Amino acid sequence: MSKPCIFCEIVAGRMDADVIHRDDQVVAFHDIHPQAPTHVLIIPRRHIESMVDIQPDDAFLIGHMHLTAKKLAHELGIADTGYRSIFNCGRDAGQTVWHIHLHLMGGRSMGWPPW
Ligand code: C5P
Repeated sequence: MSKPCIFCEIVAGRMDADVIHRDDQVVAFHDIHPQAPTHVLIIPRRHIESMVDIQPDDAFLIGHMHLTAKKLAHELGIADTGYRSIFNCGRDAGQTVWHIHLHLMGGRSMGWPPW
């Protein structure tokens, strides 16, 4: 039997996470290995493996993920200083969990490009 998706388990409430937002489309929680003072993941309730799999019908969902990032950035106090929102897509981009997730990171200045 294949291993269950850990982010589907978080959505279902079967795996612990420090959840800060839930609605009918997405769940958001603090990353367990934060790479910035604020590091939150916004994930869809529906399992989509990678951004390379999204379809035109997912446009609302992807927009909603970004609007949720903006709302949380305000609530977490990083909207004024700035933040980065990133989807890692595929192996070369460093994707390690195969359920799409939008990283919301802030609270420090960041370099570019992100090696
Ligand atoms: O983009 P990437 O797939 O590398 O990001 C996965 C992220 O999921 C990592 O930042 C990791 O710390 C986080 N994670 C988590 N909770 C888990 C498993 C992974 O926050 N249970």
